[in-house]
Amino acid sequence: MPAAALSDTAKLCVHTITTKPLPLEQALELYPRYGVHGITVWRQALEGRDVKTAGRQIREAGLEIVSLCRGGFFPAREAAKRQAAIDENRQVVDEAAKLGAPLVVLVCGAVPGQPLTESRKQIRDGIAAVADHARASGVKLAVEPLHPMYADDRSAINTLRQANDLCEELNHPAVGVAADVYHLWWDPELEAQIARCGKLGRLWAYHLCDWKTPTTDLLNDRGLMGEGCIDLRGIRGWVEAAGFRGFNEVEVFSTRRWGMDQRAYLDEIKRAYLEHA
Ligand code: ZN
Repeated sequence: MPAAALSDTAKLCVHTITTKPLPLEQALELYPRYGVHGITVWRQALEGRDVKTAGRQIREAGLEIVSLCRGGFFPAREAAKRQAAIDENRQVVDEAAKLGAPLVVLVCGAVPGQPLTESRKQIRDGIAAVADHARASGVKLAVEPLHPMYADDRSAINTLRQANDLCEELNHPAVGVAADVYHLWWDPELEAQIARCGKLGRLWAYHLCDWKTPTTDLLNDRGLMGEGCIDLRGIRGWVEAAGFRGFNEVEVFSTRRWGMDQRAYLDEIKRAYLEHA
């Protein structure tokens, strides 16, 4: 990779959850100072704020809104709860439209004890019930496959193959994929499925962090790029070869880093991105 590209943060996006202690207003002030050009907004960051105003403030800060996190959690044993999830997801789409976010990331959901095959059907039906509304609102939906360790209660969609299959089955212009290295790095089919996702025209988001050894918490001990074992450059190469030209989104849940000075952390994020991603 040429040196010029290495010093480039034009495609650096940070998820608000990565710097969870920062209120949105402070994130907007700080992100641009550390070379961040894009922002993915977690719904918690919007709490107590007017969504349209927040969207305007983000754009005025010079940041591009990459996506809204998150919708999903479609499966449930009771039909009424599945319908409530569909209603909730329509509201998330409305929120994204108000914010000016082009994409909603879906963590699809699962129910402990319910067969994964059943949860997958419910996910398919739930997304199908929201997709037309998303399209009419100018918002896309990105299915994020989650690492199998979350198959019990967070997502029954666990590989990129499954997400691609789901996109093919639904064949809806508003339904695509968010690829997150944390969830997918181990998959022997990853290169082939990234290429397939690109061919389908569905590769819409790319999330970055690293896998630490040992990982001390299954949810909140993600590493910063370069701290773990994921071949980030290799995967980025596959993603770009598949035609992806969007933002590289830094999404790190880390209790340890939430406890540190967030300015120093943003500086670390920028360095790690330039050096390892
Ligand atoms: Zn992600």
